[in-house]
Amino acid sequence: MSDVKIDKVCCEYCGSYVDAGKNETCPNCGGSLKDAILKEKTRQRLAQIAEEERQDKLAKEAKEEQDTDEVFDLIRTIAGSAAGGAIAGALGRAAGEFLKEDLKGAFKKKK
Ligand SMILES: [Zn+2]
Repeated sequence: MSDVKIDKVCCEYCGSYVDAGKNETCPNCGGSLKDAILKEKTRQRLAQIAEEERQDKLAKEAKEEQDTDEVFDLIRTIAGSAAGGAIAGALGRAAGEFLKEDLKGAFKKKK
């Protein structure tokens, strides 16, 4: 992740919002903007990290959901073929759905 871009910062000395890209000192009061720029960069970086973590968590949850579905598709396929009948297959599918809900609950509790 590259450096964050700062547009405007609040001058710590006079409180005015100034363009941080062009100024290292406040055009209004002449105070240094270095601390204000550093603070703003830190603030934006932290927000960026929080957003990245949120995205990671969402992706992880989506993957877990998918993994669970794949496992039960496999179980249903095996159960269906082993039973070798429409009735047994239907029972297998019903049992699969039942277990799936249980497992999903178990996955969610672990988090
Ligand atoms: Zn100022």
